[in-house]
Amino acid sequence: MMKITPREASTSAFGQTGVFRGHIHFENPTLSKYAWPLCDIRGAQPGPRLCVTAGVHVNEVSSMEAAVRLQSLFDPQTMRGTVSIIPLVNLPAYGKFTQYNCPEDDKNINFTFPGDPKGSFSEVLCDVLLNVWAEGAECYIDLHGGDLREKVSKFVMFQPTGEPELDAEKEKLARCFDAEIVMALPQKLLSAPGRAPTGFANAGRISIMSEAGANGIYDEESISFHVDGVLNIAAELGITDHRIQPTRAQILCNEYLWLESPESGQFHTTLVPGQAVTKGQILGAIYDVFGCKVDDVLSPKDALVLWRMTHPTAVAGSPLLALAIRAESPAS
Ligand SMILES: [Zn+2]
Repeated sequence: MMKITPREASTSAFGQTGVFRGHIHFENPTLSKYAWPLCDIRGAQPGPRLCVTAGVHVNEVSSMEAAVRLQSLFDPQTMRGTVSIIPLVNLPAYGKFTQYNCPEDDKNINFTFPGDPKGSFSEVLCDVLLNVWAEGAECYIDLHGGDLREKVSKFVMFQPTGEPELDAEKEKLARCFDAEIVMALPQKLLSAPGRAPTGFANAGRISIMSEAGANGIYDEESISFHVDGVLNIAAELGITDHRIQPTRAQILCNEYLWLESPESGQFHTTLVPGQAVTKGQILGAIYDVFGCKVDDVLSPKDALVLWRMTHPTAVAGSPLLALAIRAESPAS
């Protein structure tokens, strides 16, 4: 199902105690042109398997840098189990600076899990990540945040399925990230291909997705958010012992609203991701190229700003921002 080749400077052989760095080739012919970078850190003692990916969106560089730094933050001599890291998933987009989609099939890998072994490139890739590379893993973490035109709050997502014990376990792992917002993705998402947490949930498994970053820029706070969250999940699973205490509010939300631009124009806003807004509040306004206001954009509910576009150019029907609704707020 897959072939592993070492990088010359790799410190250990694949499958042995130590840090392996090399490449992973998946056998499905749809993926045969590519070999994915892989760092597989194996502890001297047996234990759980934790899989980590970044670079599903290649401009979300703080999350990708976190996946690089994590490679040297585990000690094979003291850890229990395995941490396996693919720091760059969307290989066809690398160096092309493609936003959101995979150039091989123009699909957004992030909304393609659990994938399909007989499908297009992104569908096959999601299938092998879930069923081949991460087979048997206790948890799969997908790191994201901050494509070229957007700024995101520090948030984390998990996908409940209505099974109380499993949902509680997912929430506990999500809360390992020092997040402003903890998003329990709505269960209606389970009926379609989606993010890794949704695809894994449909397979009865656990995936957590973290978001932090902005505009294709490295920032240390976002890098640390991702790094510390993964280290905390490793500790929660029993792979390591060291925990870092969360300091942010970790507000539980259970609805994810995308706000689309009502008109084309320039969107002017001062919203800061993470901030609270109230129902009816003016979030910003669309202006035409003569400087005339075309439309106000209002908040449909009391909410928290998950992320927003930083580039002001808005296209009618395309997203301007997203809102998170607190789990405890009454349905309206
Ligand atoms: Zn992303």
